[in-house]
Amino acid sequence: MSDFKKVPTTLKRVPITFLGVMALLVLALGWLGWLLLEQDVSLQEQRMRVRVDTAVARLEDAFANGIVAERENLKKIAAILNTNQGTDLSAAVDLLQTQNIYLHFSPDGMKAMPEVALRYLPIPEQAKPLYAEFEQIDRLEFQQQDYSSALGLLQPLAASPDKKIQAAALIRLGRIDRRNGRINEALRWYQALSELRGQKVASVPAEWIGRYARCSIFEAENKLPELGIELGQLVHTLGAGGHKVAASTYRFYVEAVTKWTKLVAKTSGSEPLKPLHAPSEMAADFFNTWSDLQLGGADEFGVQTGGADSEHLLGVWTAFESDLLVSIIGFDRFAETSLAAIIDELQSKGIGWRIADATGQALLASGPNPGDYPSSLRPLVIGGITLTVTTFATQSMAPDPDDITRRRLLLTGLLLILLIILASTYFISRSLRRETQISQLQSDFVAAVSHEFRTPLTSIRQLTELLASGRVENKEKITAYYRILQKESARLQRLVEGLLDFGRMEAGAHRYQPKSLNCSALLEDVGTAFREEYDLTTAQLSLEIEGMLPVQIDRESLTRAIWNLLDNAVKYSPDTVKIEIRARLKNDKVSISVADQGVGITAHEQSEIFNKFVRGSAARVTHSKGTGMGLAMVRRIIEDQGGEINVRNKPDGGSVFTILLPSTEPQ
Ligand code: ADP
Repeated sequence: MSDFKKVPTTLKRVPITFLGVMALLVLALGWLGWLLLEQDVSLQEQRMRVRVDTAVARLEDAFANGIVAERENLKKIAAILNTNQGTDLSAAVDLLQTQNIYLHFSPDGMKAMPEVALRYLPIPEQAKPLYAEFEQIDRLEFQQQDYSSALGLLQPLAASPDKKIQAAALIRLGRIDRRNGRINEALRWYQALSELRGQKVASVPAEWIGRYARCSIFEAENKLPELGIELGQLVHTLGAGGHKVAASTYRFYVEAVTKWTKLVAKTSGSEPLKPLHAPSEMAADFFNTWSDLQLGGADEFGVQTGGADSEHLLGVWTAFESDLLVSIIGFDRFAETSLAAIIDELQSKGIGWRIADATGQALLASGPNPGDYPSSLRPLVIGGITLTVTTFATQSMAPDPDDITRRRLLLTGLLLILLIILASTYFISRSLRRETQISQLQSDFVAAVSHEFRTPLTSIRQLTELLASGRVENKEKITAYYRILQKESARLQRLVEGLLDFGRMEAGAHRYQPKSLNCSALLEDVGTAFREEYDLTTAQLSLEIEGMLPVQIDRESLTRAIWNLLDNAVKYSPDTVKIEIRARLKNDKVSISVADQGVGITAHEQSEIFNKFVRGSAARVTHSKGTGMGLAMVRRIIEDQGGEINVRNKPDGGSVFTILLPSTEPQ
């Protein structure tokens, strides 16, 4: 019998094998997805590289075009200067309306446009010879040290209408008064000298000399606030440019300014002056280029870079006749005018860029290269120099829309397949589990039925053998044995008929024969029959029936249903069997309840026990026989005829099954 109870091992193994296969499938899918994604990433990187490569070529082109445009401008200016000899450079440049610095080297010297662009020149002005008047005065001052005579001669000259004479006189007056300790007078003379704008003494602007002298007096007198004010003015005039001074002169003054700045610890917001001025230094370079050309250089056009730190300059030159025309432009400004479009485009795409000179120094860059992404470098040979143009992808590089679509499709596809696998795993394993459960139930059923059959059959066989042998002579015993035989065969018959009927009901082949009947009478009859069947010392049955309870129903099937409930009430009440049948009319329905004081039914089992083959914990607790089909049959009988059945536990122990049937007569 125990063999029946076993669920086939193959059936048990199926879910495990199935789950294993599904897990393998998910793993394979994951691995495949990983490979695809990896490939996708490398494809994306490849596309990125292509975009960066294209960008570098475009940046290079834009840069070269910018240089060509500068050259074209130079050619235009050269043409104007050439055709209209004597045309002013500023007039020619004005036509172009650019903000570049232009230099024009010619045998006549060098001209700069704008004039204030340079702070010192490669070709400084020649010092003018000293005026004859001052030779005698200088002799009085330096050789004879006759200061009062010198002063006497100088004072009228300081008021001369000729500014050059005035300047020469003032510088001497200041010097002599300072030497003789008349500091205030000296300061005044130097102040007057500072105010002679545009005048020079020995190729140095009078203003520089005057302010320098006043600063040095304030330093000597330790008048720091005054020194600070004067220094500010000196810095201003040095930075203004446009004076035709030599580089050495400019540097001499810048060094003095640096020294005094430290002394007054002035923290002005303006940029401190540097001893080298980038455009002026470039002008010196171009002076050399021009000198080389004079010596037979063949080039017509060239490019130079200059400047340092934050200020990088781009110089483009062209030669015509014996002249050299130069355009100097800051790299930042060049980027604004010639590279704006491409820079905007690169920025919007998240591509970084850098233009460096041959030494690797960055002249222009969008920002630091993160170095983790593809980059592309190209040498750009132009106008005799070599630059390097680099573009690189940055973290903010906007992904290609194609890449996004492809990645999305890939991920959606993978996700879909995963979902399908998971969903089918769920559904298949659920039905497999059900299959196993049903198979288990069926095994239990077969075992239970065999057991049910075996017990009466065994006693029938033993009793018939005994009777057939003729060994029993006692008449009373013989009658008792026959009664047992009758009871056991009736039980067998009930069992077989019950099974057959249920089979018919399940197949929908059972024919009910509904008739109007009074439930009260039916219940009374069942009660009486039940009392006869069961020993009343162990089973107490009480009936509480309220009035007539008319229903339209198949009498036999309802009797069987109530009999089953009563049967269960006895089976699952191990101690005292106390059964209560209550019947009454409730809301147009006839309610029949069967209550016992047995073991009760757990909440979880209450919904399960009406399914076929299900035997609950009460069956185990009470070790009672059964097939698990009784309640399934009761429910089918009641529901097939328009009624319903439910169960609940009583608070004081035991369970109550309630049948509700439609009443045929409204109350
Ligand atoms: P069987 O009685 O043959 O097991 P049934 O379909 O009649 O099959 O009952 C199904 C299960 O419901 C029983 O195994 C038992 O666990 C539970 N049950 C039925 N009636 C009662 C009751 N009156 N008290 C407690 N448990 C019950």
